[in-house]
Amino acid sequence: MKALKERIKKDGEAIGTEVVKVDGFLNHQIDVQFMSQLGKEFRRRFADLKIDKILTVEASGIAIACMTAPWFGYPPVVFAKKTKPNTMTDEFYGAEARSFTKGTVSIIRVSKKYLHQGDRILILDDFLAHGEAATAMTQLVSQAGAEVAGIGAVIEKGFQGGGDRLRKAGFRLESLAIIEKIEKGKIRFV
Ligand code: 5GP
Repeated sequence: MKALKERIKKDGEAIGTEVVKVDGFLNHQIDVQFMSQLGKEFRRRFADLKIDKILTVEASGIAIACMTAPWFGYPPVVFAKKTKPNTMTDEFYGAEARSFTKGTVSIIRVSKKYLHQGDRILILDDFLAHGEAATAMTQLVSQAGAEVAGIGAVIEKGFQGGGDRLRKAGFRLESLAIIEKIEKGKIRFV
């Protein structure tokens, strides 16, 4: 998506050769109008998809999931939690996800109340890097007996391999911008 690449070039910041900071519109301050256009683009790319729910993971996935939902007719947005809050007294599905940015492993959880057998799920996230978060979400979906209809990422860092692994595994994946490389502080797109 051309407008997204331009926005990343304008506002994005490369941290070393692995991490991209886009706090200006996605990860800290949210540009609601622009994010809505990203949601519209997901709808265009998944035009034929019939979905029952959008699944994401806290915290940064929530914004893009909520901005995309209206374009799909307002399905519920479910976000997996990264810690087990005291209020999570229901039974839950859980899957492990390693965070390379934070160097931690967490179990992401969704209450069994919110994912059901036969649900067609669109998985969305802000970034796709090594594919840990997205893979863990596919595991939650399969534990529920639901179906992954598609996976969408706003920004895929192609060089970290997660996207290709998910495509090889047969998932339908759409990334709105794919970064090929970060070199000397410059972000290069595929
Ligand atoms: P993965 O699980 O695919 O390795 O990484 C994706 C998750 O880590 C996303 O949920 C995202 O929040 C975070 N992440 C990975 N790489 C980056 C990055 O370069 N910048 C930001 N802001 N978050 C990232």
